[in-house]
Amino acid sequence: MNDVFADRVVTGSEDRLAEMFGGSLGENGIKFSAGNPNSELFPIAQMKQAFNKAIDKSGSQIFEYQTVSGFEKLRERLAQWAGQTADINITADNILVTQGGQQALDLIGKLMLNAGDEIVVEAPTYVGALSAFDQYDPCYYDVEMDDDGINLEQLELVLQAHPNIKLLYTVPDFHNPTGVTLSFRKREKLVELAERYDFFILEDTPYRDLRYKGIKLPAIKSFDRHGRVLYVSSFSKILMPGLRVGWVAADKILIERLRKLKTSSDLETPGIVLAALDQYMENNDLSKHIAEMLPTYRSRLEAMLAVLDKTMPTDVRYTRPEGGFFIWLTLPEVIDAQKLLSEICIPKDRISFVPGKVFYAQRNRKNGMRLNFSGVDEEQIKVGITKLAKSIRSAITA
Ligand code: PMP
Repeated sequence: MNDVFADRVVTGSEDRLAEMFGGSLGENGIKFSAGNPNSELFPIAQMKQAFNKAIDKSGSQIFEYQTVSGFEKLRERLAQWAGQTADINITADNILVTQGGQQALDLIGKLMLNAGDEIVVEAPTYVGALSAFDQYDPCYYDVEMDDDGINLEQLELVLQAHPNIKLLYTVPDFHNPTGVTLSFRKREKLVELAERYDFFILEDTPYRDLRYKGIKLPAIKSFDRHGRVLYVSSFSKILMPGLRVGWVAADKILIERLRKLKTSSDLETPGIVLAALDQYMENNDLSKHIAEMLPTYRSRLEAMLAVLDKTMPTDVRYTRPEGGFFIWLTLPEVIDAQKLLSEICIPKDRISFVPGKVFYAQRNRKNGMRLNFSGVDEEQIKVGITKLAKSIRSAITA
């Protein structure tokens, strides 16, 4: 059967996402493995109104095939949003709207990566990006994550040793899976390095506006003077993932190429969705909607950190994010998080998390775990993390 598939279809690649979803937890299970926003916070009434209005305004035309330029107004809004939220100075021509940030990652991989091309990823990194890039069979180089983002000394050594590195993929704000945020100094320095060592930066930042404490930082792209940064964002976490709307901001030449690849792949994003989103942004203040969600996520983050502080053994380390959806735990090296999950946490404790291995390009580390705090309430956090700590403690002493 395998000879049916193109060489490009790497067998391991589909498994990365499947591996994340663990086993079933039953009715009273507590899921720290999710990555979704809290659906109770979706602005359903406003979105319903926006869809209705979009249909009333355009009638059957909105269900026709659309021309890309028809959504210039939405792209103008996004350019303005990029200025307001990320200090990026661009116009509508620098933007391509995609089906979620995920399609943007795939199209950028398709545009830039030949088999064997060298790319730097953070260790750990977003599993969906690895899954998208795997299709193009690149050669990955891992660089460690520090508490303030990617380790630049190690990055520079990798760049010196491999002068053909083409792309660096980074999630600078409230990183998935670690929750870590890249410091101001490192943002500036990354752009300097991209110019010096001649590579591009893919800045993927769907959690950027979900900051619960600390000071907002400018995007890496805001330091970009020579079109070296491709900026990917999404409405999935700040509005609703089911809309499947994301976008790329980049140099016009790259956007034009990406647009052609998107057309070959899906012709276009559903016009009704884009028209409704445009209408939603016309009638509502998206920043206000985001601000209204923050207290719920902030108290969940604080609740989880407080229980971790109270219950975890001292040789377990964890990050202290200022936003986003995730906390990353590092267990003593002898512990295999996957085994802990499938042998104890799922069958006995009825709790789930994502074992760290899938987030490494080389799948070579097994003692990390990603905990989601956005999709669980404070009682679940208290009960679930207390159980987790107990199970970790017994695994350490076993
Ligand atoms: N990048 C990162 C870092 C993510 O966490 C996600 C979603 N989990 C995405 C991209 C893709 O999201 P979407 O396609 O829903 O925009």
